[in-house]
Amino acid sequence: MTQSTFFGSAGGGGSAGSGSPGGAAGGGATIGGVTEARVAAATICADMRGGDLLDPAFDRRTIGLDARDRRWTRELVYGMLRHRSRLDALLAARVNGGLARLDADLADLLRLGAQQLLSMRSVPAYAAIAQTVELAKRRHGIGASKLANAVLRRLDREREALIIAVPSDPVDALALEHSHPRWLVARWVARWGADETARLLAANNLEAPIIVRPWHVVREQLEATLEAAGVHVTDAPLVADSMTISAPPVGLTELGAYKQGLFHVQDPASTLVTKYACFASGAMVGDLCAAPGGKALELSRTARLVVASDASPARLARVAQNVIRLEAPNVALMVADARFPALEGLDGVLIDVPCTGTGTFRRHPDARWRLKTSDLAVLGALQRAIIRSAATAVRPGGLLVYSTCSLEPEENDEQIESFLADHPDWVLEPPPNGVVPDAVLDAGRLRVLPQRHGADGAFAARLRRTR
Ligand code: SAM
Repeated sequence: MTQSTFFGSAGGGGSAGSGSPGGAAGGGATIGGVTEARVAAATICADMRGGDLLDPAFDRRTIGLDARDRRWTRELVYGMLRHRSRLDALLAARVNGGLARLDADLADLLRLGAQQLLSMRSVPAYAAIAQTVELAKRRHGIGASKLANAVLRRLDREREALIIAVPSDPVDALALEHSHPRWLVARWVARWGADETARLLAANNLEAPIIVRPWHVVREQLEATLEAAGVHVTDAPLVADSMTISAPPVGLTELGAYKQGLFHVQDPASTLVTKYACFASGAMVGDLCAAPGGKALELSRTARLVVASDASPARLARVAQNVIRLEAPNVALMVADARFPALEGLDGVLIDVPCTGTGTFRRHPDARWRLKTSDLAVLGALQRAIIRSAATAVRPGGLLVYSTCSLEPEENDEQIESFLADHPDWVLEPPPNGVVPDAVLDAGRLRVLPQRHGADGAFAARLRRTR
């Protein structure tokens, strides 16, 4: 074993982040001495342990916070999840018997406290410690608060020389350094080697940019409107008319341009899937796994009609919100299971199937800790069923586009190879030259990789029904 310092620089490095709302303590208004933002952070962690996904738990628990406190809470919780293995290594060395012996809620409070202490420059050490101690007391009693106090004070005292032993096994070392589960790191190292995997892991730990696409207006008009509202705009990778924007001074959904339906939020990887699909102008299109609807909206720019269906009524409601906000007249909604398509004779069908989402870890830092190896088999079976059924909705001569935001071959190339082997009347047909950048085409398939292209990961295959 060798040794490394925490985050590469001992002494509490990290981002200046979202400032220090509510004064020096950070985290804004207080409830009984603990800031609302910290209460929300602890509750979000509890929700996730109960099986919730991070994004909906975050939205639900921060609804009463102002924009600044929401940003602060986001920086805390998402940041903690991105650094969890390293935080655990530091905490475990300072808790008698290790973290595993603690109540899971208390362990999460310590992680949140350590994240504030070591990564959030806006938070003074006394506030990180005192507030965590108070939360621990409230949620677990006096004994837990004493433990939190002792552990965090020691972490603070030793912050100039925080050393983590680096495992000699290179996969273990990468997994610890970049806080990812070992089994995923092992897969990626076998595929891409250690150096490229390290770049992927580092990309997964970056704060995901906000990227928007103009709607009803051209890019220049949207840019001017956003700049006037105090939002800084720069180019987005890979897609010329998409724009990366800075965090708005108010919440994103409070922006006038958002309310007026002048943009929607979409990573270039997703936009590229719809460009790669390249359905003919005026086509009748089915998007059979449509929610929350970004790709259906993009397809509706040129389609005659997009039937956007999804198995989840709750998620389809989000498509409806977007369709109404953006006034997209040619998107029809339907609750339907793609394994039993109610449609047939369509010119083009997109199936953006449920997947492990290993290409979108930078947006969903909880996903890496939730995934299990068995998910590949479970989701693989669902994907296999969806592609075979969805194919029946396409007219002879029409197109079926299969896509995922996964990096895993079982969910991507292997699904396509298996489908083509069983269906001789279908062929892989790449889109015309220039529709997407050559850099994201691989043997006629779309392959966007975070470590190479600076976007989320995505895969798509465009299949033509020959008869
Ligand atoms: N295409 C969407 C977009 O760009 O906004 C994202 C789709 S998401 C990756 C996968 C979707 O598939 C989820 O909304 C999920 O509810 C839906 N889904 C899961 N199983 C399904 C099934 N059997 N039939 C139809 N939709 C399903």
